[in-house]
Amino acid sequence: MFDYTPPPALLAKRIILVTGAGDGIGRAAAKSFAAHGATVILLGRTTSKLEAVYDEIEKAGHPQPAIYPLNLEGASPNDYEDLANTLETEFGRLDGLLHNASLLGTLTPIEHYDIEQWYQVIQVNQNAPFLLTQACLNLMKSSREASIVFTSSSVGRKGRAYWGAYSVSKFAIEGLMQILADELEANTTIRVNSINPGATRTAMRASAYPGEDQKSLPAPEDIMPLYLYLMGPESRELNGQALNAQ
Ligand code: NDP
Repeated sequence: MFDYTPPPALLAKRIILVTGAGDGIGRAAAKSFAAHGATVILLGRTTSKLEAVYDEIEKAGHPQPAIYPLNLEGASPNDYEDLANTLETEFGRLDGLLHNASLLGTLTPIEHYDIEQWYQVIQVNQNAPFLLTQACLNLMKSSREASIVFTSSSVGRKGRAYWGAYSVSKFAIEGLMQILADELEANTTIRVNSINPGATRTAMRASAYPGEDQKSLPAPEDIMPLYLYLMGPESRELNGQALNAQ
């Protein structure tokens, strides 16, 4: 596991948006950021799941979060503008952006990959992070120092048979991360990095590896040290890096 012990108030006063915050790693990240003092914006497609995370954060006495239901598959550029405008009005800036939501699609050879599903996976995993980042950049420039974190995968760093659109989208995410990191380095205080969470006990992992003993895997909560480190001030100098949470 990435070795880092965060101070309790690591993210005090930070405004952090998490996509796919209703379940799995995104849910753990949202709760963990809030527990370290951040005001989190919970973005996802299933409102009831976002509400449950909201309630948990409130009950724990952490800063009051916000819910932003959005289906990244159908969202238009206008929807991202609306989101950025809402954040501007409510908070005036954005200090952290965790691109976490993604779709697995099916594990199928390229020869037989369903074309509609290809478009769907690329839309959610690759186009949505581009659109969301573009819409939020101005808000992030208003932060004293902001952090963009993309979520990759081992198949985003080395291709593997049958991982299809999911793998391709994760390679694209690594590319987007590198390009942005290079573009933003000189004239902004925004840093951009990617995380490969590694095998983690979630619904997505269970559907990719149905025969696996889920209990043998780390829980999403266990992999949070790297997420916290990247959102906090101590990673200020880190830019353009592809990192591993485990
Ligand atoms: P889960 O499937 O458990 O959670 C994914 C989250 O993304 C869900 O909350 C889901 O919403 C949301 N989401 C999916 N599609 C959309 C959409 N169209 N619009 C908005 N939100 C959407 O996955 P994990 O927690 O396992 O994965 C989190 C990230 O980590 C992903 O990027 C994944 O690729 C990556 N990863 C995970 C690994 C693992 O072992 N778990 C390993 C390597 C990478 P809803 O709950 O409504 O379905």
